[in-house]
Amino acid sequence: MIIPKAIQNLIESFEKLPGIGPKTAQRLTFYLLHVPQGELDKFANSVQNLKNDTILCSVCNMIDETDPCSICADSQRDHSILCVVEQPLDVLALEKGRGFKGVYYVLHGKIDPLNNIGPDEIYINQLISRIKDKDSVIKEIILATNPTMEWEATAMYLAKQVGQLKTENIKLKDLKITRIGRGLPVGADLEYADDTTLQRAMEGRSQY
Ligand SMILES: [Zn+2]
Repeated sequence: MIIPKAIQNLIESFEKLPGIGPKTAQRLTFYLLHVPQGELDKFANSVQNLKNDTILCSVCNMIDETDPCSICADSQRDHSILCVVEQPLDVLALEKGRGFKGVYYVLHGKIDPLNNIGPDEIYINQLISRIKDKDSVIKEIILATNPTMEWEATAMYLAKQVGQLKTENIKLKDLKITRIGRGLPVGADLEYADDTTLQRAMEGRSQY
C-alpha cells in the first residue's frame, strides 16, 4: 500500500523533531487524522505564527514579542548583574524562582569541539562586545550553566576573553565572573531543576 503524500509529509516533519522516532511520528500523524478540522487549523496557525510573532531581543537574545524584551526593558532590574545561560528555556526556569533580579544573556548553544561548534557558532563574541561597550554597566557575570564538559569549554573560553579584557581596560578591572552550582546535580539540565534548587544555586554562586 502506498501511504498518501499528505500523511507521508507530516510523518517526515514530525520525525525531524528532537526525541521523535519514526514510530512516534506515525502515531502522531494518524492521531491527528481523528482531530476535528477546527483544532487542526488552530494547530497549524500556531506553528505558522511561532516565528512570525516572536522576535529575538537585540540586547540579550531572549525570545519575546518586543525588542528589547520585557526583562531588558525593565528598569527595576539590576542591569549590572548579567546571568549567562545556554537557551531561552533556562531563562524561563530561573524566572520561575523569582529570586533573581538581574538580567540575562542567552548564548543559544555551547562550545562543543566534538561536534564542531566553536565560539563563532554561538552568541559568545557578541557577549564580549557587550561587556566591552563603553556604556556597559555590567559588574558581575554569572555563568548559570548545566555542569557538562561542553559548558566547561564555554566557561573557560569566556573566562579567558574576560581576563584579557580586564588587562586591556581599567574600567573592567573589578568585573567578577561567578558560577552557580551548589545543589545542581552533575549532568542535570537547568530547565528540569526545581525552583528551590535553582534559587539556592543562584545564592550560592562562587568565583569562577
Ligand atoms: Zn532582552
